[in-house]
Amino acid sequence: SSNVDNDNLTCVLYGIRDLRLEQRPIPQPGENEVLLKIQCVGICGSDVHYLVHGNIGNFIVKEPMVIGHEASGIVIKTGKGVTNLKVGDRVAIEPGVSCRKCSFCKTGKYNLCPDMQFCATPPFDGNLTRYYVHAADFCYKLPDCMTLEEGALLEPLSVGVHACKKANITVGSTILILGAGPIGLATLATAKAMGASHIYITDLTEYRLNLAREMGASKTILIKRSFSDEEAISHVKNGMDHKLPDVTLDCSGFQQTMKMGIEITKSGGILVIVGMGASGNVQLPLFNALSREVDIKGVFRYANDYPNALEMVASKSVNLKPLITHHFKLENSLEAFKTAETGEGGAIKVMIHCD
Ligand code: NAD
Ligand code: ZN
Repeated sequence: SSNVDNDNLTCVLYGIRDLRLEQRPIPQPGENEVLLKIQCVGICGSDVHYLVHGNIGNFIVKEPMVIGHEASGIVIKTGKGVTNLKVGDRVAIEPGVSCRKCSFCKTGKYNLCPDMQFCATPPFDGNLTRYYVHAADFCYKLPDCMTLEEGALLEPLSVGVHACKKANITVGSTILILGAGPIGLATLATAKAMGASHIYITDLTEYRLNLAREMGASKTILIKRSFSDEEAISHVKNGMDHKLPDVTLDCSGFQQTMKMGIEITKSGGILVIVGMGASGNVQLPLFNALSREVDIKGVFRYANDYPNALEMVASKSVNLKPLITHHFKLENSLEAFKTAETGEGGAIKVMIHCD
C-alpha cells in the first residue's frame, strides 16, 4: 500500500558483519526534497564490501549507516519548492547528491564534487528502508513502460553509460570488457546500444559469461584463476583471433586485468578502468601504454548519465532484466546479503523489495 504507516523497517550496518534490521522514525521532506516509499533496492558489490570489511579505502563505517544505494521509489510527499515531481510518481533515485555550487558541479563533473553526499558511503545513510527522503532534482520519473526494478538498475547502468562515453565507443568499434559482473554486463549492454560491432568479454565464471552471450556478446573468454598474467593475455589474444580491441573496459580492476588492458589494447586506443578490485598499489607497464599512446582513463560513478540510461531502457535499446537473479523482501535482507556475498545459486544482481 502507499499509505504512510508507522513501519519504517530499515537495514543498518553497525560494523563488520553486523547488519541489523531496526525501526527508524519516518523522515519528513525539507525544501526541494521528496519523501519516497522505497520499492526496489539492488545489492551492489560495494554494499557487500562494507559489510565484510567495514570500509572501502578511506571511507570507513564509524557510525551505524543505512545500507543500499541502487533504489527506486514512489513519491508520497513533496517538500516546499518541488516542481519536477508529484505524489504518486514512480522514480529512479540517483544516490549521489552534490553541492551544485562548486566548479566541478558547475562544469558538469559533479561526480567529483568534494561535498558529495552519496547513499551508503560513510557517513551518509543509504536507502534500504521503507521511507526515505531525497533531493527532488536527483530523482527521475519513470515512464509507465518501465518497472521499478529497472528503475533500481539505472544505477549500475549509469556506470556503464559513463564508462562507454569515456571510451568513445561508436559504430564499428571492437571492444574488450574484462569482468562480467553487473557492471561489466551493464557496460556490454550500453556498448551494444552505442553500436559497437564486436564485443568480447572475459570472466572467471562460466555462468556470468553465459548471460553475457545472451545479452549479445560476440564472444566470451573464460579466464582460469591459475593463469599467469602472460597466460591470460595470450589466451585472450587467441580468443579474439588476434584482433586487438580499440577499447578495453576493465570492469574488475585487478593488477592482472589492468595490465592486460594496457598490453592488449590497439595502439592509439583507450583503456577505461572502472573496476576497483585491487586495493592498494599495482604494478603496470606504463611504458607500453605511453609509447603506443594507449590512453588510460578512470571512471568514478557517473555524471549526467541517469537520463541517458533511463531513455535507453525506456526505448528498449537495452534490457537489463536478465541481470536480476534473486529476489528478497526487506525483512530478509540479511539472507539477501549472504546470497550476494557468496554468489550462491548463480547470483548476479540480488534485488530487495521494500513495499
Ligand atoms: P563483481 O565482483 O560482481 O564483478 C567483477 C567480475 O570480475 C566477477 O564476475 C569476477 O569473476 C570477474 N573477474 C575477477 N578477476 C578477473 C580476471 N582476472 N579476469 C576476468 N574477470 C575477472 O562486481 P561488479 O558489481 O560488476 O563491479 C565491478 C567492479 O567495478 C568492482 O570492482 C566495483 O567495485 C567497481 N565499481 C566501480 C565503480 C566506479 O565508479 N568506478 C562503480 C561501481 C562499481
Ligand atoms: Zn559540488
